[in-house]
Amino acid sequence: MIPDIVRTRSAIRTIVAKWKAAGETVAIVPTMGALHQGHLSLVKAAREQCDRVIVTIFINPKQFNNPEDLENYPRTEKADAQKLAPYNCDLVYVPDGAQMYPEGFASTVLVEGITDCLCGSHRPGHFDGVSTVVAKLFLQTQADFAFFGEKDFQQLQVVRTMARDLDIPISVIGCPTIRESDGLVMSSRNLLLSETARKIAPALGREMQAVIKGLAQGKPFQKLQKMAISNLEVAGFNAVEYLELRASNDLSLLDTPSQEGRLFAAARLEGVRLIDNLAVPARP
Ligand code: AMP
Repeated sequence: MIPDIVRTRSAIRTIVAKWKAAGETVAIVPTMGALHQGHLSLVKAAREQCDRVIVTIFINPKQFNNPEDLENYPRTEKADAQKLAPYNCDLVYVPDGAQMYPEGFASTVLVEGITDCLCGSHRPGHFDGVSTVVAKLFLQTQADFAFFGEKDFQQLQVVRTMARDLDIPISVIGCPTIRESDGLVMSSRNLLLSETARKIAPALGREMQAVIKGLAQGKPFQKLQKMAISNLEVAGFNAVEYLELRASNDLSLLDTPSQEGRLFAAARLEGVRLIDNLAVPARP
């Protein structure tokens, strides 16, 4: 069944209060829409663990540092609701801008430290926008569980930190990254790639795999990093924003996989910003 769309805070509060009064657990899956299998995998995980599932769709202006990116972001609300039909999602919460940021809105949730690197340093203000809107969605829905993708690993850690620090009683669950058959991370932004760029895009993941293979063979990271960046530029990427090895827990920079790590990359192809991250096992 195509889930109902709810657009106001008061409506969502009333519905969730009824569910909770009946002793049901409530999950939230926050998204910006243009749903694909990556989002739907979160809905499936939520469905398996909770009695009720809310998918939120809100293209949050506060997390776009680039107005053009915000303008071009795909908007496909009707198709999104239809895609949710087979997943037994209870409702879709689509607040409008005025619901989320009424006149006079003046507060920002700022998570320090882990937001200083990677996407945080390349997209000024991005994570302030994310943590502010996610805190609002957590509080508005009063959900017990929230499902986020490891595709946005830094975001997952920021949200976990924010919920813990602000004592929001919600469990944040991370779910694995879903990829296309050629290895490209599924992303709403892939819709913006031309046919040619779409063919080039999987090189990002491939180059990262090559770095991880090299690390397992004991090769120095800096050399592998340089080679991967140069290969990506030759393949047609305009700018590699970062390709870094960091600790999984606190995102501190590593130059060898001395502890459990992750390789993070962001690069632009035809102006479209693609990101990926992969687990790097610790090497004794
Ligand atoms: P977005 O709509 O891009 O803001 O993403 C909403 C949620 O879906 C976030 O928790 C993302 O990490 C997650 N997500 C997006 N793409 C994928 C993917 N390919 N695999 C797993 N989760 C994803």
